[in-house]
Amino acid sequence: MRRLRNVKIVATLGPASNDYDMIRALFEAGADVFRMNMSHGTHEEQRARHAMVRQVEKDMGRPIAILADLQGPKLRCGTFAASAAELEEGNMFRLDLDETPGEGHRVCLPHPEIFAALKPGSSLLINDGKIRLTVKDCGSDYANCEVMVGGTISDRKGVNVPDVVLPLAALSDKDRSDLEFACQLGVDWLALSFVQRAEDVEEARALAQGRAAVLSKIEKPAAVDAFMDILAVSDGIMVARGDLGVELPVQAVPPIQKRLIHACRRAGKPVIVATQMLESMIESPIPTRAEVSDVANAIYDGADAVMLSAESAAGSYPIEAVSTMDNVAIEVEDDPTYREQIEASRVAKRSTVPDGIVAAAREIAETTDIKAICCFTQSGTTALLTARERPRVPIIALTPLTGTARRLCLSWGTNCFLTNGDVERFKMAVVSAARAARSSGFASEDDQIVVTAGVPFNVPGTTNILRVAPCAERLIFAADPE
Ligand code: PGA
Ligand code: MN
Repeated sequence: MRRLRNVKIVATLGPASNDYDMIRALFEAGADVFRMNMSHGTHEEQRARHAMVRQVEKDMGRPIAILADLQGPKLRCGTFAASAAELEEGNMFRLDLDETPGEGHRVCLPHPEIFAALKPGSSLLINDGKIRLTVKDCGSDYANCEVMVGGTISDRKGVNVPDVVLPLAALSDKDRSDLEFACQLGVDWLALSFVQRAEDVEEARALAQGRAAVLSKIEKPAAVDAFMDILAVSDGIMVARGDLGVELPVQAVPPIQKRLIHACRRAGKPVIVATQMLESMIESPIPTRAEVSDVANAIYDGADAVMLSAESAAGSYPIEAVSTMDNVAIEVEDDPTYREQIEASRVAKRSTVPDGIVAAAREIAETTDIKAICCFTQSGTTALLTARERPRVPIIALTPLTGTARRLCLSWGTNCFLTNGDVERFKMAVVSAARAARSSGFASEDDQIVVTAGVPFNVPGTTNILRVAPCAERLIFAADPE
């Protein structure tokens, strides 16, 4: 079984995708990575989901990545005496630390750190930005606000504070416990919500201790401002357009999406475009034209992956949503304009031997009829460098490490295969690369492939060999009888 596209599909699991058959059907329809949203469900439910994905992986004989998305420091207001209140534009509304249930003129906001950071003029957004307040005056335990946009506010609604960098711990106690749980379970990626600064990512990295790769969700203005520093310490990025479009004006999202995708490509780190990609498919088997265009444009921009949230987690048409993304991707990648754009935005970064080798491999793919670039990789770095080149032929990543194979499932164009670790001689590497290329259907006996590797084997960061090799075993042995 092989994918006919390079961009990857991330599908969020939830009530609509909670059994083995559905997860397997989603994989068969095209999902490469499954996302578990730690904001919902118990650890026991997550454990069961994790086990089902691993079973599908085993039965399909293909690595699958699991991404655990941590809730992060989501802020919420307190409760109301009548469980809700109406806020009218132009009126004043007070937020304070008093736990007495709220009413039409005030409510508790149980976060002293917000009051410490607010200034007159700061905005507060409530309920996904539907209600908008501006701070008029404030102190260490209160803020008097003018209602700029009114509406119904009810118990424990989410609060966003876009213009201030909050001195919040990046990880709540729940996040710490979820992170440890997810690492012990054996997830491949951790996604961090509401990252504000590089230190937030470093804190999570220290806790993960290499057990999972760390992906930063860009969904706060502060994260957009500090993006390059955040990218430097992250293994991957998510353009989290849901919260981003609440914290910033919605029209700011598309340019940010393009800028983030470009920067990730330069850095050779995978980037996911997320949220509302096929939103109408939660209820309809057919997407809107605008949604199809959105998915297509994210792919034209060069994203590594596109993501489904509620469409696959809670919608009525999870399989159709995955197939829609799959079909759109195949169509886009077949368009000559796509290749032109991808090649025009290539990064000419040539500072190391591996940089030179991956560029040469890509060039051979452009000028000859080779069928795949097969790279031996330990940490996954060589595969990431190869993916950054966006070659015209599939990338086959061969690694003895299950964790590396799984993490690479998020990267553009990368097809991962496990080697059994006995590849000590380069000739055997060529043989196993040719086998992977043939068995996956990317090449046949008569074809040629490019093989890159590092000798000595099993030492990370040594990529120093490039070989154009035949796929037929008798030819490999004839060429190199040693
Ligand atoms: P969420 O993140 O679905 O966890 O909120 C994605 C987003 O905000 O777009
Ligand atoms: Mn979010």
